[in-house]
Amino acid sequence: YTQAKALVYSKYGEPSDVLSLHTHSISPSLPSNSLLLRTLATPINPADINQIQGVYPSKPPFTSLLGTSSPSAVGGNEGCFEVMSVGSSIKSVTKGDWVIMKHTGFGTWRTHALAEEKNVLRVEKKGLNVVQVGTVSVNPCTAYRMLKDFESLSEGDWFIQNGANSGVGRAAIQLGAAWGLKSINVIRDRPDAAVTQAMKDELLGLGATKVVTESELMEKGFSEQVKEWTNGGREHIKVGLNCVGGKPTSALVKCLSQSGHLVTYGGMSKQPLQLPTAALIFKDIKFSGFWVSRWSDANPEEKQRTVDEVLEMTKEGKFKDIPVQELKWDWGTEEGTLKEAIQGTLGGFRAGKGVFVY
Ligand code: NDP
Repeated sequence: YTQAKALVYSKYGEPSDVLSLHTHSISPSLPSNSLLLRTLATPINPADINQIQGVYPSKPPFTSLLGTSSPSAVGGNEGCFEVMSVGSSIKSVTKGDWVIMKHTGFGTWRTHALAEEKNVLRVEKKGLNVVQVGTVSVNPCTAYRMLKDFESLSEGDWFIQNGANSGVGRAAIQLGAAWGLKSINVIRDRPDAAVTQAMKDELLGLGATKVVTESELMEKGFSEQVKEWTNGGREHIKVGLNCVGGKPTSALVKCLSQSGHLVTYGGMSKQPLQLPTAALIFKDIKFSGFWVSRWSDANPEEKQRTVDEVLEMTKEGKFKDIPVQELKWDWGTEEGTLKEAIQGTLGGFRAGKGVFVY
């Protein structure tokens, strides 16, 4: 038997209140279509918290599969796993391979898991580390699809985004730069100007064309500034990526060119989006939303291709890791330590995304 631990919840609420560390064992006799996985790295994404709070649209079912006293679900949606053993009918993966989950909702914050072959994607692990593989399927895929699937952007076209220092934002900067796109990137003002400047420099280093703060975006003369950058408006800002919502997003919409497209994927400020009426009527701006879970479920092959392409860029050094705060999860790690790592996720001004490394 394999001894395993999982962070589970049986009701919705704050992670610190409802998560508990559950120990169970996994039988060595695997069903023929199953894989036994050892977890290598799992990030803590904002949506994971919303899911535990019960405010996220996709809710994994509470089950008794792990033998918890009340039916439970395992937290987390993304991760990198190593195949420890395979059932008799499995062909596509073998022991020692690395896999990620094909869909969100699997429950990844656990030391070991049983999975079915049809629910995993094998990745070519050579030249990659566990954090790179463990964080590829949500943020980079989101940035990739939003830049590709809403408007056709050609070399020299612009996009504008807020939350530019987020995992998604950093991915958009790098993919955009690799595809010859120019970008205006909005970050929140830091209390300390030197820290703000360091953040700007960091994003410029990733390939951002321009980086501005929210207050610079909201200044009166900003549209003149944008005109100057875009050769008097002859270069078009075709897409906006919205991670944040609220007033600064209305200012961002004003920067889009005629018939531009705002794609909303996050609501970090928890403020509603106010759309300027004139943008809809006179500028024909389009507004859409993107959800990577829906996209992945509908496009499994395209997901594999997107993941492979980003990981290939990572191997070639063309796609840099996000800043992370690693927390080592080994057999002795206590519940309180794990929950502490999760609790600050929605706090803002973070030094990096929390990632459990096993
Ligand atoms: P990260 O944890 O990497 O970054 C969080 C970002 O949110 C930072 O840019 C941070 O800026 C910003 N932020 C935090 N608090 C606030 C606030 N109160 N007001 C404004 N901005 C804030 O996040 P991810 O890249 O993983 O995710 C970013 C967002 O995108 C989340 O809302 C997430 O749910 C969503 N998302 C959506 C997907 C989809 O398919 N629709 C897929 C992936 C992510 P600062 O440093 O200034 O605090």
